Amino acid sequence: MGDMRTNDLTPHPSSRGGASQVASSEAPLHAALYEVRSDAHSILHYHGCWSVLAAEMADGDAWFPRMRLPEFANFSGGEAVHIVPPLPPGSSELAEEAARLAGESRPPGLLLRGHGAIVWGQSPEDALYAAEVLEQTALLEWSNANLPE
Ligand SMILES: [Zn+2]
Repeated sequence: MGDMRTNDLTPHPSSRGGASQVASSEAPLHAALYEVRSDAHSILHYHGCWSVLAAEMADGDAWFPRMRLPEFANFSGGEAVHIVPPLPPGSSELAEEAARLAGESRPPGLLLRGHGAIVWGQSPEDALYAAEVLEQTALLEWSNANLPE
């Protein structure tokens, strides 16, 4: 995530005090996840290239990396990360499917196939950390899978 800081994040329009910046086109996605995840006080959607690749590396509709860093083990609770199928960005279909999967997800995040990821936490820092864990784990996994023999 480079030098991204929580001040770089855009508050959801429903948040206390309102948003001072233009809301994401994925506001419906955020709202749907807040509905089903009472433990999510901060939700972060991003287009991380390694998270996109993680969904492509997965077998089926969930991703569980072979390389398991302790940070990923803590993030995932030992369970796979659900993958939301490719649905139009900003659509109600994407929001509904993501909410359905988020409601049954132990890891605080989902991969959006061909799109990015969405993660959540108790705070913006928690959500940012979850995004970092997903991105770093996916980078490690892809690199390991592509080491020269
Ligand atoms: Zn997006």
